[in-house]
Amino acid sequence: MKFGETFMEYLHGEQEGFLDKCSHVEYKRLKKVLKSCRVCRESRDSCPSNEHDDDNGNAQLHHEFCQCEACPLCDQMFFSELMKEASEIAGFFTSRVRHILHLHISTGMQGYLLRFRHCFTNDQQAMVQEGRMLIEYVTMNAIAMRKILKKYDKVHSSVNGRKFKSKMQSERIELLQSPWLIELGAFYMNFNERDGGESNKFFSYDLHSTQPVMTMMLPDSVKLEYNLSCAICLELVFNPYALCCGHLFCKSCACSAASVMIFQGLKAASPESKCPVCRAAGVYGDAVHMLELDLFLKKRCKEYWKERLVAERAEMVKQSKEYWDLQTKFMIGY
Ligand SMILES: [Zn+2]
Ligand SMILES: [Zn+2]
Ligand SMILES: [Zn+2]
Repeated sequence: MKFGETFMEYLHGEQEGFLDKCSHVEYKRLKKVLKSCRVCRESRDSCPSNEHDDDNGNAQLHHEFCQCEACPLCDQMFFSELMKEASEIAGFFTSRVRHILHLHISTGMQGYLLRFRHCFTNDQQAMVQEGRMLIEYVTMNAIAMRKILKKYDKVHSSVNGRKFKSKMQSERIELLQSPWLIELGAFYMNFNERDGGESNKFFSYDLHSTQPVMTMMLPDSVKLEYNLSCAICLELVFNPYALCCGHLFCKSCACSAASVMIFQGLKAASPESKCPVCRAAGVYGDAVHMLELDLFLKKRCKEYWKERLVAERAEMVKQSKEYWDLQTKFMIGY
């Protein structure tokens, strides 16, 4: 089946009610724009402005400008629309995932749920189900976006589509690189394992190779790998944080990279502090604490996790002692 049909089927499938509440990539419409653009380009000298695409004002407008090589207006319309969709999708996704994970973790219900789980079975199932819908939502839209950008480049023989992709990355709305997707994956696995529930068709992992990874299978047999090692200590991340650029580090490693103490936390980092991997600035303030991922790793690498916890605490004690010694010296004016 062509992706366009798969996508349509997805949009009007069983999740239609859920999808009504959120925006999605206007795949069909954007494709129509591209199609008329190609027709225009093929007969560049006489742009057929009377071609009927009446159900769509944009397509009409589009024809008038297609004659010029660079298609500047068309570019603007095309990309501003995609940008809007991408940020809406990313916003909706992030807020929903935050909500689910908040319910799961903040309530401290882990043990509680285990004891009283029969009371909560419905809630849990609802959470897992929404988790699954969100994974599907974000991956389907991300693929639609990739496809439409590729098509754009093909029709225009341009690289603007590719450029736009990197722009989305730098604006942090590239859907598949959201740390919330990794959190959702960890959540999904944390839950399913405990319940021995439905087999996990999206995520798998390998934590004991030299390069620990979480792998995500997308529709259309695309595979995405998330590296779970910390670029600073080169070990499996412990108490992980994702900086706004998407790079993952142990909390203690990220703190030392930003020259703040562990007990102060990443919020204390200066806005000029840079990510050690990509050198982006201002990435510490809104870093995401990856609680589900931490729980996931804790369960699977118990010994390692404990060792790291002990080490982190010792370091924290040492740092706060140094810190207070220094404060005291200031106070009494050494
Ligand atoms: Zn055009
Ligand atoms: Zn580290
Ligand atoms: Zn980075």
